[in-house]
Amino acid sequence: MAIAEKLNEIKASLPAGVTLVAVSKTHPMEAVEEAYAAGQRIFGESRPQELKAKAEALPRDIEWHMIGHLQTNKVRMLMPYVALIHSVDSERLVCEIEKEAARIDRVVDILLEVHVAREESKTGWSGEELEAWLGTERWRELEHVRVRGVMGIATNTDDEAVVRGDFEALKGWFDRLKPLFGEPFDTLSMGMSDDYPAAIACGSTMVRVGSKIFGAREYQKQ
Ligand SMILES: *Cc1c(COP(=O)(O)O)cnc(C)c1O
Repeated sequence: MAIAEKLNEIKASLPAGVTLVAVSKTHPMEAVEEAYAAGQRIFGESRPQELKAKAEALPRDIEWHMIGHLQTNKVRMLMPYVALIHSVDSERLVCEIEKEAARIDRVVDILLEVHVAREESKTGWSGEELEAWLGTERWRELEHVRVRGVMGIATNTDDEAVVRGDFEALKGWFDRLKPLFGEPFDTLSMGMSDDYPAAIACGSTMVRVGSKIFGAREYQKQ
């Protein structure tokens, strides 16, 4: 099936209020262009260099989302291009984004990535880290960072109860943080190709779908 067909099929299955991020990481410009021609405007990338290269070459009305683990020394590179950073997982990273956004006089939308999966390798704030940071109240001083919601990745398992439990935990964090950060706090980014229907059932407002649109990824050696 062509990219446009797969895209349309997924879009048709999403309830109103759920936004689709087409995860184009590792896929060539042509694949993004095909999805763009089919009407898709929001794309997700995992590597700052790749996001920058695609943003510079492709149409200006594309909204680029950073969804992969972000190192502080790559924040500056992203600043002119990124619309939403999903993968913000430490105070250090929040501070770096604040500093770099201030430097070019813009406000950047971010999500707080919370670790809920059973795998140790998954990134994100632990509940304890997040509570500790909230307790400092330092987040109230952010002027160039707008916290728009929560992002997370469920455990990679066929056990649907575990996956659902992870999504429910993320929804719990979303509900807990919403009154603290105030409007607009409207984005719960959860659900990928294999689990987005379950994520939506648990309250997701934004799904990040890659392989179901673009096919399998081939990773290059780093
Ligand atoms: C790669 C990636 C996705 C998309 O994964 P698929 O299984 O291909 O849909 C979603 N979220 C994050 C954080 C990713 O790194």
